Amino acid sequence: MRFDLLTLFPDLFESYLQQSLLKKAIDRGLVEIHRWNFRDWATGRHQSVDDKPYGGGPGMLIRCQPVFDCVEHVQCQGAAPGRLIMLTPAGQTLDQRLVESLSHESRFVLLCGRYEGFDDRIRQGLAPLEISIGDYITNGGEVPAMVLIETLIRLVPGVLGDETSSQYESFAESGVLEYPQFTRPREFRGMTVPDVLLNGNHAEIAHWRSAASLSRTRERRGPDTPLADERKEPGACP
Ligand code: SAM
Repeated sequence: MRFDLLTLFPDLFESYLQQSLLKKAIDRGLVEIHRWNFRDWATGRHQSVDDKPYGGGPGMLIRCQPVFDCVEHVQCQGAAPGRLIMLTPAGQTLDQRLVESLSHESRFVLLCGRYEGFDDRIRQGLAPLEISIGDYITNGGEVPAMVLIETLIRLVPGVLGDETSSQYESFAESGVLEYPQFTRPREFRGMTVPDVLLNGNHAEIAHWRSAASLSRTRERRGPDTPLADERKEPGACP
């Protein structure tokens, strides 16, 4: 899976690219990340990438020209053009269903905004898929882009150590939240692990986990949350 990150702050990704699962995935050739700075396409004496909004108002907007030129250049790199995505609070809210539908694609070109955002003609002219990570405002599109990358690479075969783990997490398949999990010790500050998880009976454990997932989902997401009838558990009998 290839990502092209178009941003005014490519260095923000520096440490992120050096960590954990993502670094391993890059080293193993499962994920490829390229960074591009809109500023490298800015023309004119001051190489400005932003300007004041028509009609007045606070802040600056990212100008059309550097973005169009940068996108046109980047889309000609690689085997085929990528799915163009604009990170914007006005976009479709990211959820696991959207992540899964995108995970079948092999290349993404991500537009990260800054300041007051993009001149609207960038959206009109380039027709990106617009994605929001939630109803709140971050300072730029770089962290939202990292969120999108995090969610997508987990679904690339070979990226997770245990291939089954993304299948059994919250929101996978039936849309329920994950059941509570525990590790050693059996007792910590008076809090104990449910007995059923210690008895080695896989059918009982699967049943307990399924029930715990459903009740946690209803409790936290409301009684009307649509749920699948049964949730398959790792190691459960058919
Ligand atoms: N003026 C914009 C508005 O009110 O919608 C907010 C601009 S925000 C400070 C700058 C950039 O951060 C945006 O262009 C976008 O790329 C990114 N951004 C901020 N919040 C976001 C969110 N919830 N989801 C995705 N991107 C976001």
